[in-house]
Amino acid sequence: MGIRVWSRRGSGRAAAVVVVVAVALAACKREAATRAAPSGAEPSAHATPLPRTRPSVAPEPHDPVWHYEGEEGPEHWGDLSPAFAACRDGRAQSPIDIVLPARGGLTPAPKLQFPAATLRIAHHEHVADGINNGHTIQVNYDDGDTLVLGDTAYDLVQYHFHNPSEHLLSGRRFPMEVHMVHRSAAGDLAVVAVLIEEGGHNRAFEPVWANLPRTKGVETHYEHVTVDVDALLPAGRTSYRYEGSLTTPPCTEGVTWIVLTMPIELDTAQIRAFTDIVHGNSRPAQPLNGRTVVADMVAVTSR
Ligand SMILES: [Zn+2]
Repeated sequence: MGIRVWSRRGSGRAAAVVVVVAVALAACKREAATRAAPSGAEPSAHATPLPRTRPSVAPEPHDPVWHYEGEEGPEHWGDLSPAFAACRDGRAQSPIDIVLPARGGLTPAPKLQFPAATLRIAHHEHVADGINNGHTIQVNYDDGDTLVLGDTAYDLVQYHFHNPSEHLLSGRRFPMEVHMVHRSAAGDLAVVAVLIEEGGHNRAFEPVWANLPRTKGVETHYEHVTVDVDALLPAGRTSYRYEGSLTTPPCTEGVTWIVLTMPIELDTAQIRAFTDIVHGNSRPAQPLNGRTVVADMVAVTSR
């Protein structure tokens, strides 16, 4: 059963609390020590079904091998290929540490601002394909699910997982993170990120988790299950939005990030089921470089 996310501001009265949080500090923490070693050799291709539009996450045939540690690790991605230069030289990179002002503390009160965009997500249940591309496990979608941001519609094309989380909330790293990658007709990307913490069993993950592709390069077809993407989202739909980049080479910028502030839960066995196959696929937080993070309160309705 699907549910719809829409901005309360879209219903007329500005019920949404919209805060622009100037997050300037501590965005550049490197927490490489918290990441585990990758599980063996990675394939040279970052397989993904996205067509070659801007910004593209599709690999170039000559893309070099990259990893999450060592000489092909995140600190060196920008040097591995001229095509990866944005990983080193970009000024609006992802992920970031979203540092919130301390309540009643010394931090100045956040500046109030109403952004021009309205967020609405409409997802449906779908038959999906899963693939282990060596860097993550990715579930591909054909069509039908949309995210509307302002006047622009984005189609959900795939979602995939990171361990540990790539985004941090005031320095806190989570065990996992889901990235739901949406693409507009013009080729622009908007990614909804959902943080995952260890907790109760999550039934919404069962259809995909029951058939996780363990072998790199092997695709799993979920022919007899439907995956309700909305069931993967948390009940609370507060989000932080900012302009960033792909978190994997070529680190292309121009990606709109919508990081949901409330995590979802997976139980220990569910997290283990993923990390037994893929772990340590997390890029360190990148400098904010003066970017702002917009906090939206969004509401949930049934379709
Ligand atoms: Zn990702």
